[in-house]
Amino acid sequence: MNIEPSSPLKLFNTLAIDAVAEYFAQPATMEEVNECLEFARVRKLPLKVLGGGSNVVMADHIPGLVLKYRAQECEVLHQTAKEVTIKVGAGYDWHQFVLECLSMGWYGLENLAYIPGTVGAAPVQNIGAYGVEVKKCIKAVNGIFLADGQVFCMPAQHCGFGYRESHFKGELDGKVLITSVEFTLSKIANVQVGYAPLDRMAKEKGMPTPFELAQWVVEVRKSKLPNPMQLPNAGSFFKNPVVTKEQYLNLHSEHPGMPSYAQNDGVKIPAGWLIDELGLKGVYFGVVKVHELQALVLVNEGGSAEAVLKAAQSVRDAVKAAFNIELEQEPRLFI
Ligand code: FAD
Ligand code: NAP
Repeated sequence: MNIEPSSPLKLFNTLAIDAVAEYFAQPATMEEVNECLEFARVRKLPLKVLGGGSNVVMADHIPGLVLKYRAQECEVLHQTAKEVTIKVGAGYDWHQFVLECLSMGWYGLENLAYIPGTVGAAPVQNIGAYGVEVKKCIKAVNGIFLADGQVFCMPAQHCGFGYRESHFKGELDGKVLITSVEFTLSKIANVQVGYAPLDRMAKEKGMPTPFELAQWVVEVRKSKLPNPMQLPNAGSFFKNPVVTKEQYLNLHSEHPGMPSYAQNDGVKIPAGWLIDELGLKGVYFGVVKVHELQALVLVNEGGSAEAVLKAAQSVRDAVKAAFNIELEQEPRLFI
């Protein structure tokens, strides 16, 4: 097992922050993971888990041992005529996994096509797009506690899944390595085209098959989201705020054009609209720019975590001043 000291991580985070880990390892088996845990224990090093680095803001110097678990096994646990339950290694590329499922005739993840990252990170923020959250297909999350290597199998109902939330981001943050995820997928197509761009396409072309829907999602995403390989970014930098009905009514009377979506706990306002309304699309804060096509995305042109966070704070301050709404950051600090 190669445990590399002073390892550059610029190629391992989509904001392309020029970070260096004190130690970096890419174990592919549980045996190698245990070797890493022992290495860290002996040297009293903190452990951190990295997936594809598409939802993190990395510090310049990351103390301790950074683990990127690579296991990509895929095993059918159970199936009936209607559904299949599979167990997938945390290191599997997410989009590749979605495509593999579609090719097998296993449905439910098509709206989540083209989200960067790994299978192991998908439960961490309960990834979501176009009205579908991954929690609806997760049966259980398997992993180990970093402190003692104890294994766990957490049924989905105990994972604390919420809107871009889970216990893995909360009370278990930094404490576990997710090793595999169990999904239950349907063998019966049931496409979700509720979001406007997909609805428009369905009206034009007719209802899609799940595979066609995934292709539409890829097409729409490519048209407005910058490719991190060309324009380093971490996707949506802010979560959509959910305000009270009263707050919403006040805001709406001042901004009648403001889009909104009713939720169980209030009204969701698209954060991108708030930022766009302030004319910030295309505006630079140092070397960090608000993307021209999608105001929720910050593009990093060579800045450190400090530069990215400073730019994010400027956007947050502007939104607070104009709308009295506190935006919450989505990507995780990796420090
Ligand atoms: P990383 O960024 O490496 O890690 C994210 C967090 O998860 C970190 O805290 C890390 O410690 C933890 N983690 C990662 N792997 C493990 C593991 N095996 N065990 C324990 N903890 C782990 N997100 C959405 O929800 N919807 C979208 O539509 C979406 N679109 C995006 C578009 C772009 C262009 C980009 C750049 C990002 C987008 N994201 C989206 C955010 C991101 O892709 C997801 O959050 C993704 O799941 C992160 O996966 P990752 O492997 O890159 O995780
Ligand atoms: P969009 O279609 O421009 O819509 C803007 C926002 O309005 C979205 O964030 C979405 O909230 C909300 N919205 C739109 N239609 C809705 C509906 N019918 N019901 C409820 N909410 C609705 O969004 P976009 O930026 O192009 O992104 C499309 C999808 O991909 C969204 O679901 C978004 O979350 C996801 N995405 C996520 C990231 C990330 O990094 N997290 C990056 C890119 C795209 P929701 O975000 O709650 O869906």
